[in-house]
Amino acid sequence: MARQPGSLFSLVSNKMIVLQAVMDVETYLELFKDGCPDSLRPMACSHCHEQLMLHRHGHYERTVYFLENQFLIVVYRFKCPNCNRVDGLLPSFVGKNQQAAWDIQETVLREQAAGASLANAAENLDDIPGGPYTEKTFWRWVSRWNKELPRWTPAVWAFVLERTSV
Ligand SMILES: [Zn+2]
Repeated sequence: MARQPGSLFSLVSNKMIVLQAVMDVETYLELFKDGCPDSLRPMACSHCHEQLMLHRHGHYERTVYFLENQFLIVVYRFKCPNCNRVDGLLPSFVGKNQQAAWDIQETVLREQAAGASLANAAENLDDIPGGPYTEKTFWRWVSRWNKELPRWTPAVWAFVLERTSV
């Protein structure tokens, strides 16, 4: 396929805070129903790397799509008292600026691994939740995972896929 613009790569390397505790969506909804528990508050800034407790700074809602269902989750935001930058605290089952959980993205990777072009995958998977997605979106997912996957151990994969396959 044609080479994509390099600017898309910035989506991959964007700073974000990801909740250290890996949990499924039901656990997340339960734990965060009254706000972010103190025990899970971020203790370091992803921008300036200062080790300190970040201040609460509102929240937003996001619909997250899984293969079998969808959930409206609340993402809590935190502000660094050192550099004043704000970050959302993302649960581990979805990426920054994304609504499709990992199990949906995994389906696309499997299609591609089975030999489908991304254009074909976009056609074949036009009825998956949150879609239809464009070929470009699929390309972003695949690029991201090609970069991320080597950093993931098989044990983490098994755990995450088991939890996100609702
Ligand atoms: Zn900071």
